[in-house]
Amino acid sequence: MPITEFSLISRYFSDLGRGAAVDLSVGDDCAILRLGAGERLAVSVDTMVAGVHFPADSFPEDIGFRAVSAAASDLAAMGARPLGMTVALTLPAADELWLNAFSLGLAAAVSEYRLPLVGGDTTRGPLAISVQVMGALPMDQALLRSGARVGDEVYVSGTLGDAAGALAFLEDEWQPTPDHAEYLLERFNRPQARLALGMELLGRASAAIDISDGLLADAGHIAAASGVKICIETDLLPISDALASHHSPDKVMQWALTGGDDYELCFCLPADEPVPEGCSRIGRVETGAGVDCGLSIDIPAGYQHFSG
Ligand code: ADP
Ligand code: MG
Repeated sequence: MPITEFSLISRYFSDLGRGAAVDLSVGDDCAILRLGAGERLAVSVDTMVAGVHFPADSFPEDIGFRAVSAAASDLAAMGARPLGMTVALTLPAADELWLNAFSLGLAAAVSEYRLPLVGGDTTRGPLAISVQVMGALPMDQALLRSGARVGDEVYVSGTLGDAAGALAFLEDEWQPTPDHAEYLLERFNRPQARLALGMELLGRASAAIDISDGLLADAGHIAAASGVKICIETDLLPISDALASHHSPDKVMQWALTGGDDYELCFCLPADEPVPEGCSRIGRVETGAGVDCGLSIDIPAGYQHFSG
């Protein structure tokens, strides 16, 4: 029997909707989520298109996990507590093998991020996934791009440039050792949204952003929104052993500064704030404008969908 839209939804998606804030999940015209007293809603949506945001032959499990991570990363950047998500899925065909693996990737993200899948939409067309995430923020707090102050220190979580190094490997531009290749591919296919860090920074960091377009481009958004200059010391940038194994230190630096898709957080802390675990200081906030890393590197403004 051919699979229908409704049997597809109930087979692969309906079970992923349980969560602490979920009063009503998949199956009605809307889901119903509960906010605590004195809370407000943070909402964001991200679309991933096959061949644009991920190689069309990526494993469906990775496509699912990565799409949720990219969206959840925006909640992390705001310091929001995850409530739930909806997924709008455009599929070329109801391929059950594909759907099964895709829903496993979603399920891994649902449980890791405590972000239940409470609804969505399913249509036919070229493969694309939109993930809309919802989170809760206290009435009087949020991590914004606009709060950085002169004298604050600038930090990033994790390591930088790994996803760009992985993409270059996938495109046969270099050949890391098997161990390093495995690590880099994991970083590209299974990026970690830093939700716990975001919540830890709420009320402490003066500004934050997630690094989806590259450190220079994204730190530039903090600089612009805050009316300050961000000075980055390139020798402080956290680089993984796997990425550092590339033969060209210049290439590694370029990936760390401009590579997208790492989904780490870049944030500013007043000088007396303790540094969260797993984060590295990379520079300081000064008077002026823009981002200065002491190198003359073109700052790509992230991937430009409508240029050219
Ligand atoms: P409507 O036409 O009222 O928008 P649909 O028929 O599209 O409803 O969807 C039926 C139910 O299944 C809704 O609760 C919707 O949120 C849910 N749903 C549809 N597609 C998905 C999906 N890809 N993932 C999770 N839930 C979905
Ligand atoms: Mg619908």
